[in-house]
Amino acid sequence: MNCSEANDLMQGHLDHELDLVRAIEIEKHMEACKACSEAYRQYKTLQSALKEQGQYYSAPEYLQSRIRSALALPRAHKATPWSRTLSLTWLNFGASLALAVVATLGLSLYLVAPPPSELLTEDIISSHVRSLMANHLADIASSDQHTVKPWFTGKLDFSPPVTDLTAQDFALVGGRLDYLDNRPVAALVYRHRQHLVNLFIWPATPAEVSAPDTLSKQGYNLIHWAHAGMVFWAISDLDLAELKEFVAALAKPSESQTGAGTRSEPVGQ
Ligand SMILES: [Zn+2]
Repeated sequence: MNCSEANDLMQGHLDHELDLVRAIEIEKHMEACKACSEAYRQYKTLQSALKEQGQYYSAPEYLQSRIRSALALPRAHKATPWSRTLSLTWLNFGASLALAVVATLGLSLYLVAPPPSELLTEDIISSHVRSLMANHLADIASSDQHTVKPWFTGKLDFSPPVTDLTAQDFALVGGRLDYLDNRPVAALVYRHRQHLVNLFIWPATPAEVSAPDTLSKQGYNLIHWAHAGMVFWAISDLDLAELKEFVAALAKPSESQTGAGTRSEPVGQ
């Protein structure tokens, strides 16, 4: 074996990848060759320094799935700890570099994607706008809560509370099915002067309760909260003060407006 061959095999030897014959050959060469044995010693020092002081991070599961789905790769078998993939052979170095590029790409995909609540807000605005533009406000057009509420039965796996707020100047226009947050939801439509309010309702996660939170986006005001096992999103071009009146009226309807069927426990869950 000459120096050139020894150099080619050195990193493989360091990683115990050579067969016995090759390993003995290179050991013999290095015993006789100062330059090669010195080069090998330096590789070995570098390897142990990286093993001992290198920082290794496992990509979190959500990041791994994002990268995999972005690349349309099947689910990985058992994730290999990154420390085990470290190797000084150029082949592995190249692979690690590619991994780093992929990881960076995946990370930026992750960072660019808006958080789920923002996606939900966008969806709610789209739903609201669509309901106004497509002249498809209601699947069931009725100002009677006792007509609207039963209409949802069998169409949803929960029973949305339907409240008539005519006395508070928010007349019930009707209800329709919509699709938000990856599930079918109830949409109730109310009219206040010439303004329309969409109220989206779906079951909350267990024990989810939250005080009303407001936000404004694309010229619409939104208020969302969770109460009595349900998530509520109200959206309108009404000014925020009036939309708050609507939410307050919903929260405290007078006895005469609260029908027997307005309790909001999820059905069949
Ligand atoms: Zn040599």
